Amino acid sequence: MMPLPATDPETLLAAIVLVFFFAAVVWWLFATGMRVTPRASLCLATANLLLAGALGTHALRGLAPDLLSYWGSDVLGLLGFGLLCVAVPWISDETPRMAWPALLVGAAALALLLMPYEGDLHRHSMVVYASMSALCLSSACNAYRLLRQRVRRALSATLAAPLFIVTGLLLVRLLEAWLAPGVTPDIRASSSFNIAWLWSTLALNLVLNATMAFFVLMRLILRIQRLTRRDPLTDALNRRALAEAMDHEHARLQRGAPYALVMVDMDRFKQLNDSHGHAAGDAALQALVQALKPCVRAVDRLGRLGGEEFCALLPDTGLAGALLVAERMRVNLEACGFSWDGKTCPLTASFGVAEASLADASAEQVLMRADRALYQAKAQGRNVVQASGA
Ligand code: GH3
Ligand code: MG
Ligand code: MG
Repeated sequence: MMPLPATDPETLLAAIVLVFFFAAVVWWLFATGMRVTPRASLCLATANLLLAGALGTHALRGLAPDLLSYWGSDVLGLLGFGLLCVAVPWISDETPRMAWPALLVGAAALALLLMPYEGDLHRHSMVVYASMSALCLSSACNAYRLLRQRVRRALSATLAAPLFIVTGLLLVRLLEAWLAPGVTPDIRASSSFNIAWLWSTLALNLVLNATMAFFVLMRLILRIQRLTRRDPLTDALNRRALAEAMDHEHARLQRGAPYALVMVDMDRFKQLNDSHGHAAGDAALQALVQALKPCVRAVDRLGRLGGEEFCALLPDTGLAGALLVAERMRVNLEACGFSWDGKTCPLTASFGVAEASLADASAEQVLMRADRALYQAKAQGRNVVQASGA
């Protein structure tokens, strides 16, 4: 085993406090200066500050008032881990469950207050480390779950690992207090166990904050990606993103996977705009997308081509299946009951459907056929589904 650099616990503690403090400043700048996930960043700034305070006041045992350096230090640490638990879901825009971390921290703080800080403190350590490891384990599981919604399992596990390792470190302290009560009751005791533990804490403190910063960065990247791929009014895919998906499907067609396009154009939309104003038109476009969305599967793509024209890309679907989808869309839109200024404005659309064939040189040609079918649907009096080539 590599010998650990000889360091006294006080120096290590001071270094950890400094790192926590520095991390708190960086998160505070994230929150206030750059406005990056402000709630989560502020939460992490406070968590780091509380943990710096917990270790700082712990180091002052014997110098500062006992209530602050014993009970106060333990409670600050618990609050720090409680806030970590709250920050993780906030990074992903999920509402955190605050009740149980608050209850756990409150119960542990009360239990500690009722136990006199005298002589052997191993029971205090057990309460503190059991609560901290529960909070940290919950943060780790939540981080893994939220990451799994976006990235592959191996990457999620790697990114959540620092939180699991910190949980392990806290459990080691819990076990130590349980199995070897009174041997190293204080993290300032100059034992090899404490020195090793403090070195790991210092390293993990850095890794943990870097991981949380990476989560925030990932969220920003995903948000930017979304902004470049979505239409801001309706949240349907924009034309570029839809074209990419169509090209991908067209490449799959060469390997035998069929696909179909359903082109949608709102009927007499100009009239609605002229009589009720542009805002009503915008709301109608949003209502249209809301009515169409339930008609498609998760693998289908709905995009806005421009104005009041949309297109649904249906992978692994032939003409008959696509016609069923289009008919379902037509019926759903007609029944959506859109109203503006208290007045009901019936919404309908016309649909042109085309199945891709090997004779189509590109997805753009399939779209042109769907567009021609749409034109025929309009000519038939609107609110109609028309297949290409029929
Ligand atoms: P048809 O039944 O033949 O499709 O008639 P239409 O009125 O729907 O078709 P037309 O293409 O003549 O009109 C489209 C109108 O859509 C013209 C434009 O003012 C309006 N428009 C385009 N983009 C937007 C938008 O983002 N918001 C709103 N409110 N209106 C838009
Ligand atoms: Mg149009
Ligand atoms: Mg129209």
